[in-house]
Amino acid sequence: MRRRPDGAGGSDRERGDNPAPRYDLHTHTRFSDGSEMASMIEAAVAAGYDGVGLTDHCILVDDDHGRRDRFDLVETYERRRHRIDELRERYPIDVFDAVECNYVPGTEARLEAFLEDADFEYAIGSVHLVEGCDVTAAATVADRSRAERRAVVDAYYEALVRSIESELFDVVGHVDLPERIEPLRGLTTDAHYRAVADALASSSTVPELNAGRARRGLGRLHPNPDALEPFVERDIAFVLGSDAHAPREIRARSEILTDFVRDRPTFRLASPPLRSRP
Ligand SMILES: [Zn+2]
Ligand SMILES: [Zn+2]
Repeated sequence: MRRRPDGAGGSDRERGDNPAPRYDLHTHTRFSDGSEMASMIEAAVAAGYDGVGLTDHCILVDDDHGRRDRFDLVETYERRRHRIDELRERYPIDVFDAVECNYVPGTEARLEAFLEDADFEYAIGSVHLVEGCDVTAAATVADRSRAERRAVVDAYYEALVRSIESELFDVVGHVDLPERIEPLRGLTTDAHYRAVADALASSSTVPELNAGRARRGLGRLHPNPDALEPFVERDIAFVLGSDAHAPREIRARSEILTDFVRDRPTFRLASPPLRSRP
């Protein structure tokens, strides 16, 4: 189970008092589908952050969409760790050795053993694959009926709630991911958001406000800013993630996230939920 230093993981700000965000906790390097590590850290420095989390994709079990083959951090995280250690010395901000782990219901024991072994500073748990679909790829759901697409979305939220209840992860990634693709957009209901908020209210997992599609595609943040009420009502604090795969996205999305946080006095930011520091 998770260890957490005293005081970490809670909110570091009071309501109505939101200074500029200090951390971008969701970025990708060449160890998955992102960019050269130094360029990502440099972009975080230029954006004025105090810290950046490197959260390459990590997938433990095979799938029908080839994600496991493309994202092999299971084999490369130690090499990545050496590289992070080298680069850390050169930059004036915190560089977190973290991970975005794909959550598949039923594989909790494997995930727990891997996360225990790998000892990342924090882990994002994300659901990308459900009911044989990749919910980031429209082509994998396009030929399904509306009822079938609803079932995919229901299954997604069931898996997401389970990932939160598992207490395996420090952060739950891009909460309403099915909204990202056109065939599933609009099928997320208030009840889905409430179920996620309920699970978060009794878990130490924190959600992220994810800017991965704030400009292109979806054109808004995850979760939908219009659906934040159940989270605010339950006093749930968020961390921020650009989900950047290229350096320029860190800067551009830092502006979006900063504007959003500044304009929402009821929106609470959580500290980076670190398990341990090297
Ligand atoms: Zn993701
Ligand atoms: Zn990501």
